[in-house]
Amino acid sequence: MTTLEWTSIFQTKIGELDRTDSWCLEFDDSLVPDLPNPGWEQYIRSACARFSCSKCKRSWPSNRVMVVFHMRLLQNQGTVKVRRFRQNCKQCSEAPMEEATFSADNISILLEKLLEKIRIKCYHEDLGERNRPFRIMEARGPHEAAHCEACKQGICSMNGTLFF
Ligand SMILES: [Zn+2]
Ligand SMILES: [Zn+2]
Repeated sequence: MTTLEWTSIFQTKIGELDRTDSWCLEFDDSLVPDLPNPGWEQYIRSACARFSCSKCKRSWPSNRVMVVFHMRLLQNQGTVKVRRFRQNCKQCSEAPMEEATFSADNISILLEKLLEKIRIKCYHEDLGERNRPFRIMEARGPHEAAHCEACKQGICSMNGTLFF
């Protein structure tokens, strides 16, 4: 259900580009940060989202949800693959990694930035810097590295800033 929201916001923003190429957004949990396949560009970003534990139903917000995009434009067909890093509950033992739930606002802000990267990296447009910060979540306490999939893979702090 959340993937539908991503897809429809993505297609709306792609439509605003006014290009004849068609683009699709694919969810791929096997994407490796910093290792895009040859010919693919990467955009990696720390975003804001909410998680909820499927064992105890507790929910928590996080402002360090790593999202990795790999994108390619090839013969009028553009492809974006996205991986949203998961987190798990710190109160349950052996808690499963949970998918993040993003607000429509924050999906929109994230994909807007992605579209800028597509214009720069795939269409070689020269865009000035623009900033639109995420709506920060009220996170209680520090980021829990032990419960963050991106931290476990050593990529979480790489682009920790929310404002770029
Ligand atoms: Zn739990
Ligand atoms: Zn982390």
